[in-house]
Amino acid sequence: MFIKLILVLLLGWAGFSLIKRLKSSDSSSQPKNGHGQKMVACETCDTHVPESDVIVKNGKNYCSKEHAE
Ligand SMILES: [Zn+2]
Repeated sequence: MFIKLILVLLLGWAGFSLIKRLKSSDSSSQPKNGHGQKMVACETCDTHVPESDVIVKNGKNYCSKEHAE
């Protein structure tokens, strides 16, 4: 009957908004810069290198061993 139709619509809407919410919270937890890597500037030449490739010396970041000297 009419009440049943409304109930079905409500359930469908509730399920749809729940999936939408789950999807949006999923994408917001991903890193914002796309690569998932933080870029760090070299103290000597100001070149930006990924944090995993950076050479740290005396608390400063360098792009290569040569620049860390
Ligand atoms: Zn450098």
